[in-house]
Amino acid sequence: MEVRLAECAGFCFGVKRAVDTVYEQIKTGKTIYTYGPIVHNEEVVKDLEKQGVRVIGSREELLSMNPEKVSDDQEAKKGTIIIRAHGVPREIQNILEQKGFECVDATCPFVKRIHRIVEKESNSGKHIIIIGNPGHPEVEGIRGWCNGPVTVLETYKEAEKFEVKPEEELCIVSQTTFNYNKFQHIVEIFEKKGYNGTVVNTICNATEERQRSAKALAAQADVMIVIGGRHSSNTRKLYEICSGECAQTYYIQTLDDLHLELPKAVRLVGITAGASTPNKLIEEVQNYVRVNF
Ligand code: SF4
Repeated sequence: MEVRLAECAGFCFGVKRAVDTVYEQIKTGKTIYTYGPIVHNEEVVKDLEKQGVRVIGSREELLSMNPEKVSDDQEAKKGTIIIRAHGVPREIQNILEQKGFECVDATCPFVKRIHRIVEKESNSGKHIIIIGNPGHPEVEGIRGWCNGPVTVLETYKEAEKFEVKPEEELCIVSQTTFNYNKFQHIVEIFEKKGYNGTVVNTICNATEERQRSAKALAAQADVMIVIGGRHSSNTRKLYEICSGECAQTYYIQTLDDLHLELPKAVRLVGITAGASTPNKLIEEVQNYVRVNF
């Protein structure tokens, strides 16, 4: 039996950059905070917590914090807040600045690019359409950089229902981790409505590559294992894609969740992992399957 890892799996550029930033900041000896969990992976967050990194859970919590109290008397102990790869709405950035927090922005440059696009396009009067999950922090962040009308759509039905006004120009962008085919389909729905405006495909390459290579591997595999955090939207999408190709697809967070029973006929076990899954976890699963089956 062969165990094969998808060509692209695990930490993407933006997540690696954000996680590395936190580990670098820990070395400064200051109190480190992240605004929301740094990545959607409980294992990574737990490890950082062990090293003293604290997570600020909400805007209200942030508002109740006082940088003077955060800091000890010694300069070296002052707190630093790190903005995660998903980015934050402008309002949160303003609060951080106004309160005088020391702030390290680890927003992924690809997400930052979307902030700039929607800010510019909404300043020029366009209605911004964000194709993505309205509850996802990245989408909340993007929404928070729009200065005018903004609509978040996730489904074909929502796109069908959207009323295109002839006098209104639209700018359509996407959550970086959105499924590429779904995005294309939603854009087609807008085309049929004869919308006026621009479409910017802001799906990140890392996402597309992960999705493409997961799909290719799942199409050949007898069993497929998808590793990633429960709240990781890109992992869930990988699972969705792999399940479509391979009936025996498992979604696990860590090796403990894996209860595999492989019939003898299984020839190929495929493994893929979301962009916030550390290499260590992927290797553990890979080794386990290789050694035990
Ligand atoms: Fe950045 Fe892409 Fe990774 Fe999102 S998936 S953090 S946009 S590199």
